[in-house]
Amino acid sequence: MEIVTAFKRAVDLWLMSDSDIRVLPIQDYIENVVRYLHGVAHQNYYDKIKNEVVYIVNTDGSLFSNADAPNPEFCHGNIFRDTLPSLQRSAGYLNAVNAASQRMKDVCSQCQYYGICSGYYMAEATPEERYGGLDARLKCAVVKPVQEYIESVLIDSGAFDPKRRRWSFKQIKSKALNQHAGESARSKSVAAARA
Ligand code: SF4
Repeated sequence: MEIVTAFKRAVDLWLMSDSDIRVLPIQDYIENVVRYLHGVAHQNYYDKIKNEVVYIVNTDGSLFSNADAPNPEFCHGNIFRDTLPSLQRSAGYLNAVNAASQRMKDVCSQCQYYGICSGYYMAEATPEERYGGLDARLKCAVVKPVQEYIESVLIDSGAFDPKRRRWSFKQIKSKALNQHAGESARSKSVAAARA
């Protein structure tokens, strides 16, 4: 998938860079994987009712969660007419909460990162971001494979030794550089072959 390929490339470039620039969501993914490898307890779970912070407001004032605009079945109400408590009790809001919870249950509960990665990305995935596998079941087609890629880079490069559970961050950059050098050489040879 092109998004995963692009994010993997962004991971390599970020690791190569000397800049402290924050590249989101790459930085979030890397932090998740570092916590996961480090053995941090799995206790970070997205709670839509308590922690939702991104809303979509249509021009007529109708309010939606990020995942659901502009589907009327999931409309929380109207910010020009309804009070906040009534928006959060509406049938549309409860539909949105239940649907997000079901996505996390179906997909995140099977994932090794769940509890480190909060599941937010699956809970608030828009219809365009919901991918089905060959069996048509919903899957985490971007965040999980990119996090698995980051995990493999950190381990294969020697940046993290899973047996000793030790970190050696100076290894990360050389690994990314080697990968990039390999890719550049391959690109040049392809270009030369086409010329
Ligand atoms: S399935 Fe995706 S969103 Fe859910 S916990 Fe795993 S990586 Fe995170």
